[in-house]
Amino acid sequence: MNRRILISGASIAGPALAFWLARIGFSPTVVERAPRLREGGNGVDVRGQAVHVAERMGILPLVRAAAADVVGLSFVDGANRSVARLDLRAIQRRAGDADVEIMRGDLAAILHEATRNDVEYVFDDSIRRMDQDDDGVTVTFERGPTRRFDLVVGADGTHSTVRRLAFGPESGFLTYLGHHFAFAEADPGLGEKRWVTLYNLPGRAVSIYRSGNHPGAKVHFMFRSRPLTYDHRDVERQKRLLHEAFADALWLVPELLAGALADPDFYFDSLSQVRMPSWSSGRVVLAGDAAHCASPAAGAGATLSLVGAYRLAGELSSAAGDHRVAFHRYEQGYRKTVERHQSNLFLGLLAPKSRPGIWARNTMARLPILGALAGVEGRLQPRTPALPDYGPAAGSPRT
Ligand SMILES: Cc1cc2nc3c(=O)[nH]c(=O)nc-3n(C[C@H](O)[C@H](O)[C@H](O)COP(=O)(O)OP(=O)(O)OC[C@H]3O[C@@H](n4cnc5c(N)ncnc54)[C@H](O)[C@@H]3O)c2cc1C
Repeated sequence: MNRRILISGASIAGPALAFWLARIGFSPTVVERAPRLREGGNGVDVRGQAVHVAERMGILPLVRAAAADVVGLSFVDGANRSVARLDLRAIQRRAGDADVEIMRGDLAAILHEATRNDVEYVFDDSIRRMDQDDDGVTVTFERGPTRRFDLVVGADGTHSTVRRLAFGPESGFLTYLGHHFAFAEADPGLGEKRWVTLYNLPGRAVSIYRSGNHPGAKVHFMFRSRPLTYDHRDVERQKRLLHEAFADALWLVPELLAGALADPDFYFDSLSQVRMPSWSSGRVVLAGDAAHCASPAAGAGATLSLVGAYRLAGELSSAAGDHRVAFHRYEQGYRKTVERHQSNLFLGLLAPKSRPGIWARNTMARLPILGALAGVEGRLQPRTPALPDYGPAAGSPRT
């Protein structure tokens, strides 16, 4: 039986998987490259089946209590006048959804808290090398001593080290979506409470995210560009690239940019999707963004990570730890869902390419049509499919 499981990455997918593995009798260890839990990020959605996963984990009340409490999108012009508003909460109500939006850092903290007594966490380290044989995987770390595990899971995000070591360079798996983006802290005085205030220039978007539940605010920048070359760990170069992209922009951009460039938690990346022909290779398997990042433009990363973690642990449980059977079923059962989310992007809404595109988006947002469509869709669409049941240990709410 494969019991000792090393998980790389302590964000959403990693701790969620560790939760279930510990619950069903495996011994998970989570290694995280950052020296502590990373707090950054805007709101992420916990939707559909992920709400049921959170419920089964017993963390749903905590997730709801920490919800970002954001009403919707307010589109503004260069003089900071609201030109259209999209009340996403009303649309959600009409569609009958029970979804929750929560700050990424809050969700990561809830998952860590729910697991830290049952799971070994190793911060400030990373896998350097993995050698698989018939019985297990010998793992060499950047800092800690070499250890033996039965299985290794890459839950280390879009630029996964585990994926590179087991499957090859990321250039073979990343599909660039023509934009780069950044997240950082923002001065809350610049945004409207409980709204995402969004300013557009053709192919560029800057938004201030102000939750009703937090004193601070976040800024999100996005810009169209050809693929840019930089080391994804070279934060200073990333800050220069962002500065170049927005140096001429007006509105509140100079203040927001200055704040972002001074933020130690600054996060910059290409808007890319991960598409893999297979999510496992022998005793190594991928979860969350490492396997199937849909990009922040899909708004599905946290949802897919929570549900994928539940499914991967459940398959390992029902296959009594046989990784060949479990990894095959995990992928077979989940790939279609992932692909559906990957094809559902909101780029036209967030960053129209041209001035007429911005005008058309604002005009659409002023019409009640989106709300009406959501109401119809809510009545017509099939209910969220039930989660697969993997037996009492994997399915019962925490006591
Ligand atoms: C700081 C941060 C902010 C984010 N903000 C947003 C946001 O505002 N909106 C949004 O839609 N999505 C955001 N994301 C992405 C979002 O969290 C994911 O799309 C989604 O939740 C899937 O999570 P994941 O656990 O698979 O991957 P991620 O959330 O990307 O987490 C991967 C984890 O692995 C760690 N890691 C990376 N390399 C190694 C390594 N070699 N060894 C060990 N650990 C490693 C990272 O530090 C990170 O903690 C953010 C991610 C991070 C890390």
